[in-house]
Amino acid sequence: MHRDEFPRHLGEEDELPEDFGTRPGDTLAFGSGSYVRTLSAEEARQFTQQPHAAAPGRGPEATGPADKVMENRSTPRGLKRLLPAGWRRAAHEQVAAFEPPPPPVVVAPPARLTIELVPKTSWYNNVRALVDAPTWDRIRRQVYRQARYRCELCGGRGPEHPVECHEVWRYDDPTRMQKLVRMIALCPGCHQVKHCGLANLRGKGAQARVHLMRVNGWTARQADTYIEAVFRVWERRSQGPWTLDLAGLAPYVPDLELQAVQRRAARPPR
Ligand SMILES: [Zn+2]
Repeated sequence: MHRDEFPRHLGEEDELPEDFGTRPGDTLAFGSGSYVRTLSAEEARQFTQQPHAAAPGRGPEATGPADKVMENRSTPRGLKRLLPAGWRRAAHEQVAAFEPPPPPVVVAPPARLTIELVPKTSWYNNVRALVDAPTWDRIRRQVYRQARYRCELCGGRGPEHPVECHEVWRYDDPTRMQKLVRMIALCPGCHQVKHCGLANLRGKGAQARVHLMRVNGWTARQADTYIEAVFRVWERRSQGPWTLDLAGLAPYVPDLELQAVQRRAARPPR
C-alpha cells in the first residue's frame, strides 16, 4: 500500500488535511471519544477505483489547475512506459471484468482509549504535586468509589490494585492554557497507555501498545500511526510553558482548598 493511502489517525490538535475522511479508516480522536467519518459504499468505490480522482464531495466546479497538476504527475513510469496506452487500458478493463465486488468499507473503531502525554514543560504541573498527601488520598478514593473500582474506559481491574487515579487535562494551544477536565479511574493497563512516553522509558512501551490495540480494536498499523501523531503534538507542546486552569478540581475539594491550590499553581516556577 502506498503511504498516501494509509488511513490517518489524528488528534483534535492536528491540522486536518483537506481530504481528511476520504480514506477508509480515517479517524479523528478527541477527548475520551472520537469521530469517525464513514464513507458510503459508493464513495468508497469511486475512491478506491480512482485513487487520484478528486475527493468525494468535491463537485465538478472543483476541476481546475489542481487537477492539471495531478495529470502531469501521472506520467507512466517503469514498465508502464514501455506499453502503449491502449494496451494498458485493455489490460485494466480485463482485470476489472474479473474483479470481485469491492470489500466492505473498513472503518477504524473509535478510540475508546487515547494517549494523553503531558508536555515536557508541564511535567510537574499536576494536582498530585499541588496538594498534600492526605488531600490526594481523599480525591483518589472519591474517584475510585464513583467508578465502583472499575476502569472507566475498559471496565477492567488491575491484578494488584483495581484502579488508579488519572488527571484528564485539555491543552489549548493558542492560549497555552492547560485546563483540568476531570479525574478518572483507570486500570493500570489503560493508565500506562495514557502516559506511554513514561512507559517507553520504563521498557513497557510494547505492553502499552498491545493494550491500546486491544481496547480500541486497532491493528498494529492503526496504533502506530496514532502513536506517531500523538508524539508529534507532544513535541510541539513541549516548546513552551503552560498556565494551569484548575477549576475542574471543584467537584473534589472544598472551596477553600481549591483556592489554596490555585494560589500554589500561580506561583512562578522556582
Ligand atoms: Zn482499563
